[in-house]
Amino acid sequence: MNGRVEPVLGWRLWRLRGMRLESWAASYTWEPGENTARCLAPLRRCAHAPGAGCRCGFWALFSLLQCVERACAERSERSTVVGLIQGWGEVALHGSEGFRAERASIACLLTDWPWDAPRALSEGGHGGRWRPRLRRALRHLSSPPPPEPWHARMLREAAALYGVPLVSLEESLRIGLLEELGVDELMRGEARTWVEMRTR
Ligand SMILES: [Zn+2]
Repeated sequence: MNGRVEPVLGWRLWRLRGMRLESWAASYTWEPGENTARCLAPLRRCAHAPGAGCRCGFWALFSLLQCVERACAERSERSTVVGLIQGWGEVALHGSEGFRAERASIACLLTDWPWDAPRALSEGGHGGRWRPRLRRALRHLSSPPPPEPWHARMLREAAALYGVPLVSLEESLRIGLLEELGVDELMRGEARTWVEMRTR
């Protein structure tokens, strides 16, 4: 764990609650701009989040597909939003998987529905290095659930409320938004693979 000046970037999930974004795995409603984590553990709360050996802090994953995989593991959840955050302050790195950060803000939100993954993958020899991960993400895809009917509209309102770009993943790559936000080549490569697979 170390204090950081440079923000670290990662993908994460929210649920839409009205036009607000609620953490996927914790009872926390995100604020526009800077968010400061506090420990939500039922017992033995950490003095400062992210505590060692705890689950507190704003988590994010470096792998977009791992994030999508998590989203697709909950079939009944139809208000999911995927986006990118900047984390800073005290940051607990979880190997190459992701991090938990003391402070975080939303960098951008995606219009992409997690279930809209490349179906062609299960058939062909596509995907390159990301293939195993794509495969895992796709195992849930037999009959993808649709988003809530109000999803697109509320997501637009959420992006306005939080003051962040709302783009499709494809667009974020095309206009160079991810690069501009500081997303590294490895993460962008994975995002590009997902986009390419869907348009095949
Ligand atoms: Zn904690």
